[in-house]
Amino acid sequence: MALLDTIAGKLLLDGSWTAASELLEVVDPATEQPFTAVARATGAEVDAAIAAARRAQAGWAATAPSERGAILRRWSDLIFANVEELAALEAQDVGKPLRHARENIYFAGSLFAYFGGYADKHFGVTLPSRLPDRRGFTQREPLGVCALIIAWNVPTVLAAAELAPAVAAGNAVVLKPSEHAPLAPMALVELGRQAGLPDGVVNVLPGYGHDAGAALTASHGIDHISFVGSTVTGRAIAHAAAELLVPVKLELGGKSPNVVFADADLDVAVPAIVSAITENAGQNCNAGSRLLVEDAVYDSVVERVAAEMQALRLGAWHEDLDMGPLVNAGQFDRVVGYQQIAADEGARAVVGGTSAEAPRPGWFVAPTLFDQVTPDMRIAREEVFGPVLVAQRFSGIDGAVEAVGANDFGLLVSVWTDDLSRAFGVADRVRSGQVTVNEHGNTAIVGFPFNVTGDSGYNHGGGYNAMNEYTREKAISIRLLPR
Ligand code: NAD
Repeated sequence: MALLDTIAGKLLLDGSWTAASELLEVVDPATEQPFTAVARATGAEVDAAIAAARRAQAGWAATAPSERGAILRRWSDLIFANVEELAALEAQDVGKPLRHARENIYFAGSLFAYFGGYADKHFGVTLPSRLPDRRGFTQREPLGVCALIIAWNVPTVLAAAELAPAVAAGNAVVLKPSEHAPLAPMALVELGRQAGLPDGVVNVLPGYGHDAGAALTASHGIDHISFVGSTVTGRAIAHAAAELLVPVKLELGGKSPNVVFADADLDVAVPAIVSAITENAGQNCNAGSRLLVEDAVYDSVVERVAAEMQALRLGAWHEDLDMGPLVNAGQFDRVVGYQQIAADEGARAVVGGTSAEAPRPGWFVAPTLFDQVTPDMRIAREEVFGPVLVAQRFSGIDGAVEAVGANDFGLLVSVWTDDLSRAFGVADRVRSGQVTVNEHGNTAIVGFPFNVTGDSGYNHGGGYNAMNEYTREKAISIRLLPR
């Protein structure tokens, strides 16, 4: 565990792993016991990290884009060379099965390769002029010092999706991983250091949101905020960005539906629907937490999904079964609370519904499917962030579109059908940042933007567009004087 030895008890300031006056325990959700600690950043470290990033940024921006790209590609290679250790860190920290963590690490590695390739292929445009002696063009410039604040659920992917384009574009960054799962993002950055990142270009401050996070987003030393987390915190971040008058991108919660038409291939759809709400114990922003099924196949889909959910095996990260525990006691209380709310609202538990018999110790909850759910119920509208699925019926394309639009989130809609006209009948009319057809969420396309709208956030996308998000455009015109 060479990477863990390097980062344990530390934070990364100006290229050095440094101790702080306080520690933050890191807990295994399957045992409820701490297994290591990292340094806990406070305001003093935030100021030092921003100053280090500021010192490093101009030199990094002046580094040849091809050289920046080469460092990112080496970073990617090191991620692939260290998949097992990174996966173990993410799996134990979050509680997810090892093989799911491994997939996340592969995706993170591919992001550094993708944006490493982009570093010297991102450019402005030339503009037609109405006068022959005028020339106009634009150039893309880095934003400066970027604050990256991320959630805990897929920490390596969330860190990579921001770090890779931000750094490729010539920015310096201060990354604040979540207090609930800091290890894998810290180890990821250590590999960047080994790949040749100059000191200060990436600083990492594990710490609490109300403390290190709030200090970071109140600092006049930052030029941009990128935030991934809950809708409630996202509102606070948007206020902080307004005070500083810096641009912000917000990637928030969701209540994403799988929309199943009667002509769908259920042999493909059913396992994907189950995975969409139980992978990472349902703790994904794009979890498929609503199951909207066309009348004709409603009963059979509910029955098949229930059977697969019932058969899931729960276990600790290293047992590598189907589903792990929730990340912490707060998440456990939240999900059990929603199971109770659903029961009180009159929903019927087809599977699960109570977590009284889930394994102990560990914050395990029972995979749960509710039906007899109406659109006004809280369980149908609010993000649970756990393995709790609600089933509802619809009839026809209009009915599907109406059912999809019954809450304020706008992250992902997955449509299952054999008919492209039906698929587009939904895709064109729903308010959603992403639509996927016959799969739940994009899994194969590295440049696919993670677009969001409504209560799921704004200005966010990443993917092929991320280099634009991490640069500003400068417009330049030239008048050619007569000779
Ligand atoms: P959270 O909002 O509690 O915390 C997210 C991050 O913000 C953490 O690093 C936290 O320390 C920090 N933070 C908290 N309060 C802060 C403050 N006042 N100022 C600055 N920083 C602060 O969210 P969470 O519990 O870590 O994550 C779960 C949420 O994240 C869910 O709603 C989920 O849907 C969302 N999420 C969204 C996406 C997406 O891509 N849309 C991805 C992952 C998670």
